Amino acid sequence: MSHSPRPVIDFRAVGLQYPGPPPVRALDSCDLTVHSGDYLTVVGPSGSGKSTFLNLAGLLDTPTSGRYLLNGIDTRTLSDSGRAGLRARHIGFVFQAFHLLGHRSALENVELSMLYQRIPARRRRAQAAEALDRVGMSHRSHATPARLSGGERQRVAIARALAARPSLLLCDEPTGNLDTRNRQALLDLLDRLHRDGMTLVVITHDPYVSDRGQRTVTIQDGRLTEASGSRTSV
Ligand code: ADP
Repeated sequence: MSHSPRPVIDFRAVGLQYPGPPPVRALDSCDLTVHSGDYLTVVGPSGSGKSTFLNLAGLLDTPTSGRYLLNGIDTRTLSDSGRAGLRARHIGFVFQAFHLLGHRSALENVELSMLYQRIPARRRRAQAAEALDRVGMSHRSHATPARLSGGERQRVAIARALAARPSLLLCDEPTGNLDTRNRQALLDLLDRLHRDGMTLVVITHDPYVSDRGQRTVTIQDGRLTEASGSRTSV
C-alpha cells in the first residue's frame, strides 16, 4: 500500500479576525493542505490577506477560528515558547528586505540564526557553512552584507533560512528587491531546493514568480482559492 505524502501545512477552516473596531476578517475559513515537497505560490492584491496567511502559516500569529496542524502537530494548544520552538525547528523565513546584520559576515549571519536552538557551536558553524555552500556562497562567507550584491544577500538570507534544516521554507516577496537577472538566479535556486525535496511557499505579486510554482493559490478579500491550472500533487 502506498502512503500519501505527509502534510506539512494542514489548515482546517483557519480564520483570523482582527478585533477592530471595526472587526476585519483578514482570513476567512481557509482550508489548505501543503504536502512535503510541494512548491506553492500565493498571489493576491494588496490588502487581500497574504501577510495574514504568512503570519499564520509561520506561527507568528494564531488563528481566531479553525485549526492549524504543522507536520501533524496541532498548534492550537501550544504556549508562546512552544510555538517559538516549533517555528525554529520547522520553518525557515525569507523576506523581501533580506534582514541581514550589517556588521556580521555572511557566515556569522547564518550561524547566529541558530543561536537560540539547542545546537552546539561547532555544529552551528558546520551547518552554516553547509547552507552557504548549498546556495553557492561559500566563496563569500567572510564578506559583510555591504560587500555583497542584492542577489548575493538574498542567497545568504536563504542559507540562513535553511541552516537549521527546516521542513518548510516560507518566502515573502523574495524577489521584490532584485533586478531581472538576480530574480532569475533566485528562482533557479528555489527550483533546485524544490528538486532536493524542500517544501516551498512563496508569496508574490509577480506572475513571473508565481508561474514557477507547482501550485498557485489566490487570496481575495481573505478568501483562498486554488487556481485550476495548478499541477496539484497526487
Ligand atoms: P496583504 O498582505 O495581502 O497586503 P494583509 O494580510 O496585510 O494583506 O491584510 C489583510 C486585511 O487585514 C486588510 O484589510 C488589512 O487592512 C487588515 N489588517 C492587517 N493587519 C491588521 C491589524 N493588525 N488590525 C486590523 N486590520 C488589519
